[in-house]
Amino acid sequence: MDVKVGVLALQGDVTEHITAFREALTERPGSSVVPVRKAADLAGLDALAIPGGESTTISRLIEKNGLYEALREFEGGVFATCAGMVLVAERVDDPRVRPLGLIPMRVERNAFGRQVDSREAMLEVKGLEEPFRAVFIRAPVATEAGRGVEVLARIPEGIVAVRHDRHMAFAFHPELGGDLRLHRMFLEVLGV
Ligand code: GLN
Repeated sequence: MDVKVGVLALQGDVTEHITAFREALTERPGSSVVPVRKAADLAGLDALAIPGGESTTISRLIEKNGLYEALREFEGGVFATCAGMVLVAERVDDPRVRPLGLIPMRVERNAFGRQVDSREAMLEVKGLEEPFRAVFIRAPVATEAGRGVEVLARIPEGIVAVRHDRHMAFAFHPELGGDLRLHRMFLEVLGV
């Protein structure tokens, strides 16, 4: 089956997401991965990636481009990484971010402390047989997960991977590093 994936292209590592999804979809002829900048771009998409970047900036650009309601009402699956995880939460510790409320969880930005910019960890992720090399860059964590949220991975600082219905969110960057197992898991969960 061909799949149409959008990548929210307002700020952040948009190109990396486009490349990773294109690669994850190579065996599905007719599939496409397109940038999303305005509400009309969401039409007909099966899924949307919300990239890493700066969640305060992406939040401001979502408002500016009139995308807030359209994203809240998006019927496909969302694949959110890092800043994306902040945006899809229900509650965020920073008032500059207006969260989309797609996943009932509370998220804390820059949860590793300001002096720790990035970190790598071999992470056990529920549903994967082998650990995943997770790259955290000024990453958030979820400090509370609500009803229906499946926790896929956790580290001492908090929850770093979740699934809720057709949405998945990661505090790290599965779009970097060429390991596409989480993209495939997402496409499987979506049933496409
Ligand atoms: N610290 C950023 C934020 O909260 C996220 C960093 C990232 O996406 N790599 O927006």
